[in-house]
Amino acid sequence: MNPSTESALYDIVIIGGGPAGYTAGLYAARAGLKALLISGASTVSQITVTDLIENYPGIPAGINGFELVESFRKQAVAFGLECITADVQTLETINHGEKKAWRVLTDSRTCETLSLVMATGAYWRQLGIPGEEAFAGRGVSYCATCDGPFYRKREVAVVGGGNTAVQEAIFLTHFATKVTIVHRRNRLRATGILQERAFANPKIEMAWNAVAEEIGGGGGVEWIRIKDVVTGATRKIPAAGVFIFVGLIPQTTLVKDLVALEKDGAIIVDRDMKTSTPGIFACGDCIHKSLRQVITACGDGATAAYTAQLYVEDLKGEAY
Ligand SMILES: Cc1cc2nc3c(=O)[nH]c(=O)nc-3n(C[C@H](O)[C@H](O)[C@H](O)COP(=O)(O)OP(=O)(O)OC[C@H]3O[C@@H](n4cnc5c(N)ncnc54)[C@H](O)[C@@H]3O)c2cc1C
Repeated sequence: MNPSTESALYDIVIIGGGPAGYTAGLYAARAGLKALLISGASTVSQITVTDLIENYPGIPAGINGFELVESFRKQAVAFGLECITADVQTLETINHGEKKAWRVLTDSRTCETLSLVMATGAYWRQLGIPGEEAFAGRGVSYCATCDGPFYRKREVAVVGGGNTAVQEAIFLTHFATKVTIVHRRNRLRATGILQERAFANPKIEMAWNAVAEEIGGGGGVEWIRIKDVVTGATRKIPAAGVFIFVGLIPQTTLVKDLVALEKDGAIIVDRDMKTSTPGIFACGDCIHKSLRQVITACGDGATAAYTAQLYVEDLKGEAY
């Protein structure tokens, strides 16, 4: 489809249709801003692939991820948020008086906006081994905070050796009877204090110089096959859950030349969700933060929309 030549000027364009984006959209629309939310056509919110969310307050019975995001969307639309599904391909900086504005180009439409909210999320890097995709959400997890409590009195494996892997392995010992950390080297990359805690924890066992080769089982995960990179020997470790922490990829390519990013690509924001560029705000999993969850994404989204609202009002001379 050819991009539409029609160009509308919005107060705020939010890129991302997950908890952060829809919450930003709800707050922006309720504040009376002319707001558009663009939700990816070829990507989805991370939470929509989750069957059961048990840690979103107010829903004690838990809720399916897709249903939760759909209810976020409906609530925001009821307050006047305009939503489209499209992949944003480019962002161009344009002039609006003395200030900057942005042209947002998608595969189907072009629009202009006085402020931008990035809510594009992040993906956990995958190992790409047999069984990983087949058992995703049925024993293979990328989030111990989310899924740890499902493994009470079970044995689990953690793949990775950095801070996240070790921290999550320690967290998993609150539930699991045994946690095996599978790490490709003979020492961890995690900070000293985390290493000390892991080594002192009787439930944690190290599988050094080992790479994960396959995850297998029946209805759910039952084992992970690992290979010793020194000897070449392989063995199966019993595990009802395999937690993979081999890196996070924030979806921030669109703004890599527009705002300051951390080394890992996460967007640097202040406590008001302002990026290094006035008029561009960011929220949710795509920002540099310690806890990536639905509840924190929603909180970030509300803050980003509020700060964007103040910015737009100031720009229009409507601030009071
Ligand atoms: C397996 C798994 C289980 C989880 N379980 C839980 C749980 O139980 N509880 C919990 O609180 N959290 C859980 N999480 C974490 C939770 O999913 C995330 O913290 C949350 O989804 C972050 O919200 P977000 O809006 O920042 O990003 P996302 O929800 O990932 O949304 C990002 C949005 O950006 C869009 N996008 C990206 N690039 C573009 C582009 N170029 N153009 C247009 N749109 C674009 C995507 O299409 C998507 O709509 C889990 C995560 C995973 C992976």
